[in-house]
Amino acid sequence: MATNNGESPEEKKIQNFLEQLVEEDVKAGKNSGKVHTRFPPEPNGYLHIGHAKAICIDFGMARDFGGKTNLRFDDTNPTKEETEYVDSIKEDIRWLGFDWEGREFFASDYFEHLYQWAIQIIKAGNAYIDDQSSELIADQKGSPTVPGKESPYRKRSVAENLDLFERMRKGEFEEGSKVLRAKIDMASPNMHLRDPLMYRILKKPHHRTGDAWCIYPMYDYAHGQSDYIEGITHSLCTLEFEVHRPLYNWFLDQVYEEGKARPRQIEFARLNLSYTIMSKRKLLELVQNKHVSGWDDPRMPTLSGMRRRGYTPASIRKFVDTIGVTKTDGVSDVLLLEHSVREDLNHIAPRVMAVLNPLKMIITNYEEGKTEELETQNNPEDESAGNRMIPFSREIYIEQDDFMIDPPGKFFRLAPGKEVRLKSAFIVRCDSHKLNASTGVVEEIYCTYFPETRSGGAEANRKVKGTLHWVSVPHALKAEVRLYDRLFSDAEPDGHKDKDFKEFLNPDSLKISECFVEPGLANGKALDHFQFQRVGYFNVDPDSKPGKLVFNRTVALKDSWTKASI
Ligand code: ATP
Ligand code: MG
Repeated sequence: MATNNGESPEEKKIQNFLEQLVEEDVKAGKNSGKVHTRFPPEPNGYLHIGHAKAICIDFGMARDFGGKTNLRFDDTNPTKEETEYVDSIKEDIRWLGFDWEGREFFASDYFEHLYQWAIQIIKAGNAYIDDQSSELIADQKGSPTVPGKESPYRKRSVAENLDLFERMRKGEFEEGSKVLRAKIDMASPNMHLRDPLMYRILKKPHHRTGDAWCIYPMYDYAHGQSDYIEGITHSLCTLEFEVHRPLYNWFLDQVYEEGKARPRQIEFARLNLSYTIMSKRKLLELVQNKHVSGWDDPRMPTLSGMRRRGYTPASIRKFVDTIGVTKTDGVSDVLLLEHSVREDLNHIAPRVMAVLNPLKMIITNYEEGKTEELETQNNPEDESAGNRMIPFSREIYIEQDDFMIDPPGKFFRLAPGKEVRLKSAFIVRCDSHKLNASTGVVEEIYCTYFPETRSGGAEANRKVKGTLHWVSVPHALKAEVRLYDRLFSDAEPDGHKDKDFKEFLNPDSLKISECFVEPGLANGKALDHFQFQRVGYFNVDPDSKPGKLVFNRTVALKDSWTKASI
């Protein structure tokens, strides 16, 4: 049995506890040995990196055991769901590399079925209509150590309950005036079994069922029954639902028929990430209050934000695989995610020349007006990426910090009298420089080049310690670069009792600046990845237009994870 969430099928791995449990069920012949999972997002926000973990687990489990995965929108709450979210969720799952093969369902498709089952549960004497206010019901719940108080309506007759439930559906009662409750045990040590709500009245239209309903099922009731309707065998969810599991099973017991697939709920730890907020409600707040430009702002932990930023689906899948599946909550280091992104881009991103803080170099012995095309490799990590030509001329840009008038000992870049190689071009020697009279900043440097040091030349193998990237001035394209830093300056922006998470927003999380890039990038398409040599990984932002290139910095070149992990 293949049990790996990684990229290559050959690479077998030790099973995680979820895989072990599912395999036990398969071997025991439960549900005829079938595995059928579901991913159940509530369409009230965009998917984030935490959801990516659940998606990889749900779809990965089905893939590894030859099963299926359904996409089910948990749209039981009419006040929040929106079609925009449904569309974005589908796009993001596909982008991440998973396919629900047309098995796309909505909990709202089952409203009639759920209603009929509720009648069945009432008829069995296991549910009742309560006329008390939600405050009173909450007051009577007790605490884990103090038993709850039974509602005076608990003993209502089946006939009366059936009549009231039907009239609730018809809209005869006001919001909040009645609820349907399961009749379980007000003294249960598990608070979720103390006569939980099954239905409440909400006179709000639903994004799919419109005005057809004015009573809506609660999540706990709808979720397990929807699993059962769809023939789900393993309902994998996050740890906070562990205490709900007895209720999940109680609801199933009310309607389960022998011979049908019986879903088993198994919980795993959520993904939390340092420097990151994962609550959809808080992410929505960032969008609505315009702290970010939208759900797909490249600083957001949403999949659409990460896609726009230049993160690849493979790097996200790899990250999820690396952190593994456990049963204890923890916080994963965002550096590990960045490491995964960098590793993937290292293999696939073409290397190009771009200068972010330009300093003009004039090569005094190079003929004025001349241009020559020099060959350079697209990606040393991938020979199949081939070579390309880049223009060279008398005036080029290098980075300001690649030149120092009075450098310290081990500065292998350029300084007066020193030599460096210009990447894929010539060795140059710095002869002099010009300072701006008022600011004292270096404005231009003057160099001599050595024609025979180019590839194939007589002095091609001449060694110098430093190699600099550069862009030819007359050929350079001006572009906008968006340099991102963490959105929050605190490792756990959500973890401070007395402070709002927004207090930790990093004011410097976005810096917009200009850069010069080699002319071939004019043809870059939205979301194309590049490594700006010696600078970092970048991609083309969808805001780019002909004549106005915009790049996002995906991730810096330096890998601080390796350092952090030592
Ligand atoms: P909310 O932020 O509104 O509480 P949610 O995070 O529960 O929402 P859902 O849309 O209900 O979001 O989640 C869909 C699925 O993704 C659920 O099975 C949920 O357990 C899982 N999921 C959500 N957040 C994470 C996370 N951080 N790590 C792993 N799985 C997650
Ligand atoms: Mg949820």
